[in-house]
Amino acid sequence: KRRIGVMTSGGDAPGMNGAVRAVVRMSIAKGCEAYGVYEGYEGLVQGGDLIKKMSWDDVRGWLSEGGTLIGTARCPAFRERDGRRKAAKNMIMKGIDALVIIGGDGSLTGADKFRSEWPELLSELVKQGEIRKEQAESHKHLNIVGMVGSIDNDMSLTDATIGCYSSLGRICQMVDYIDATASSHQRAFVIEVMGRHCGWLALMSGVSTGADFVFLPERPPPVEWEKQMCSIVSKHRKLGKRKTIVIIAEGAHDRQLKPIKASRVKDLLSNDLGLDTRITTLGHVQRGGNACAYDRILSTLQGVEAVKAVLESEPSTPSPMISIIENKIVRRPLVEAVAATNKVAELIENKKFEEAITMRDAEFAE
Ligand code: ADP
Repeated sequence: KRRIGVMTSGGDAPGMNGAVRAVVRMSIAKGCEAYGVYEGYEGLVQGGDLIKKMSWDDVRGWLSEGGTLIGTARCPAFRERDGRRKAAKNMIMKGIDALVIIGGDGSLTGADKFRSEWPELLSELVKQGEIRKEQAESHKHLNIVGMVGSIDNDMSLTDATIGCYSSLGRICQMVDYIDATASSHQRAFVIEVMGRHCGWLALMSGVSTGADFVFLPERPPPVEWEKQMCSIVSKHRKLGKRKTIVIIAEGAHDRQLKPIKASRVKDLLSNDLGLDTRITTLGHVQRGGNACAYDRILSTLQGVEAVKAVLESEPSTPSPMISIIENKIVRRPLVEAVAATNKVAELIENKKFEEAITMRDAEFAE
């Protein structure tokens, strides 16, 4: 029986459990065995109890659960070749030669590297007498399939990552709570949201809550942003708005790449406009809690597709990443998705903001 491993890696996101559940059950439905790799790449490197066979019942009730029940970790050892050789040995000992990884761009990059090195790793292990020649022969190719789990929606070549809509929903709910108290006292709130280098959560929560101003890493505000923000906010106040909401992405910066801090924005609103202003950093509530319906559906459909991709994969085809584009579950080459993601980050680092935006827009247009 074919043995398929499934793991979660990098930052946790709601919906990861739904993805693991779908991979486990689809594997079993297709006559394969499913193995859960616990604690991300740490589980592969350490092996033993961290790689467990999973039954249909083991994942019961996982669809709605937040976080990741098989754990995740940063694993420096897997960045080294020696760590990856240990991982290969542990997989061979368990008879696993296909791996579905739910993680961010770092995790998927590591996975692709592992796949390309696999034949060399096996021949080294045979030479060192760690595995038998027949074992290497029967697991000649490693199949890797990536799924993107991230609250930030920061991966190229997919419209949504698993977890981003749960997180967005949570942020909106929190801003709604703040709205009520802000309006009562006619206060201003500066709200910092997650997203690392990506402004998706900030932009979408700004649109969904009717925020007065939003700061995004991909589109830094004009040089005179202080004046602009104050004039927009005071215009809104004059029109009768009793509250002010300014949303800052955690990766927001000005055109010189200097971070835009919540405290700076608060000082402007308090000192220049005389508004009673508070800062709220939403923090980890944005990651936690149940997966929303969209993430349950996305993780299930993608988990099913991931197992199909494993079973259909050929040694010559590039490792796929399971995406959703225009509401269709599709496969895209994993390396291309990671390269496009890195390219956007590079454009921002080089202050080529218009090109970065064009690249993100082009993706949506595709
Ligand atoms: P994310 O997957 O969310 O981007 P990280 O970048 O922290 O998160 O990656 C998670 C783990 O993936 C790392 O701790 C490491 O074990 C592995 N990894 C990341 N990048 C590489 C790489 N270039 N080569 C090998 N392993 C990597």
